[in-house]
Amino acid sequence: MTTSEPKPAGGQAPARQDTPTKYEYNATVTQRTEVAPGLIIMRVVPDDLPFPFKAGQYVALGLRAREPRVSGADDESEGEGIVAARGGLIRRAYSIASSSRGDEFLEFYLTLVRSGDLSPRLFHLGVGDRLHLGPKAVGVFTLDKTPRDRHVLLAATGTGLSPYMSMLRTDLACGGWRRFVILQGARHSWDLGYRSELVALRRLCPNLTYIPVISRPSGDPNWRGRAGYLQDVLISSAVRKESGLYLSPKIFHVYLCGNPAMIEAATVRLIERGFVKDKPGEIGTIHVEEYW
Ligand SMILES: Cc1cc2nc3c(=O)[nH]c(=O)nc-3n(C[C@H](O)[C@H](O)[C@H](O)COP(=O)(O)OP(=O)(O)OC[C@H]3O[C@@H](n4cnc5c(N)ncnc54)[C@H](O)[C@@H]3O)c2cc1C
Repeated sequence: MTTSEPKPAGGQAPARQDTPTKYEYNATVTQRTEVAPGLIIMRVVPDDLPFPFKAGQYVALGLRAREPRVSGADDESEGEGIVAARGGLIRRAYSIASSSRGDEFLEFYLTLVRSGDLSPRLFHLGVGDRLHLGPKAVGVFTLDKTPRDRHVLLAATGTGLSPYMSMLRTDLACGGWRRFVILQGARHSWDLGYRSELVALRRLCPNLTYIPVISRPSGDPNWRGRAGYLQDVLISSAVRKESGLYLSPKIFHVYLCGNPAMIEAATVRLIERGFVKDKPGEIGTIHVEEYW
């Protein structure tokens, strides 16, 4: 995506709402934690009271094109200065990872796209730096889509974990009836952001099953967990072995977030098992949020 607009779910450009004052810097970075090279968790505090949101929703973050890019990112090539020429903000959509019950900060889990317009600038930010935060959270990738008598399986690659961290932090009733099965995919074990929090939650909450999966085990000799592509692990016996539940649309709704190729492959496999993807105006048993 190379425009200055945030990219919403489904890839459709939102209607422009340009008024210059809407695009001011109105938030401050209060924490920046490096998970691994090219992966950070960033906390942002809005100048005004934070807006209400539902776990799973996203918001726009923005920076001006004149802001510096983090070292190690690709140079911006000549001729891609449309945004700079407009003097506008570069804005993109980011899922909120913090609990919707908290009002002190918003947390984001960010990956660096070295050739990208915004993420190299976000990665240059440090504590105390200012940025633009969109005026409200949007999106329908929420737990509302799942009836109360169904369990949920949440599968993510990379920073696609963000909305699930918000869901767990907001809605995981530890020891409650609803089972949460979370599949987290990354290339290497060190790219599994939030792993220690998820492992701790798994120990505390018998209704949480956490299955981390890495796709490049050859570079990770100490890894003792599952390896392969997330979509393959999803439809293997792993879910039944680790949760004791059979992956069936009669008992589960499945959420897929992150890499579009993973989402496509997983969706095909799930449909073969009787799951149904959401359609406009019709809620199915597969809910997706593609990041690009
Ligand atoms: C609803 C929604 C929620 C999102 N939430 C998050 C989030 O929580 N954390 C996060 O890091 N990103 C998230 N994204 C992606 C984010 O909006 C940007 O696309 C991403 O930060 C890249 O922006 P950029 O300006 O640096 O690159 P751009 O200049 O916009 O993109 C350049 C190209 O990089 C590729 N690309 C984009 N994102 C990725 C990626 N994550 N990994 C690999 N290649 C990519 C695409 O092919 C894209 O065309 C979300 C996207 C959507 C639609």
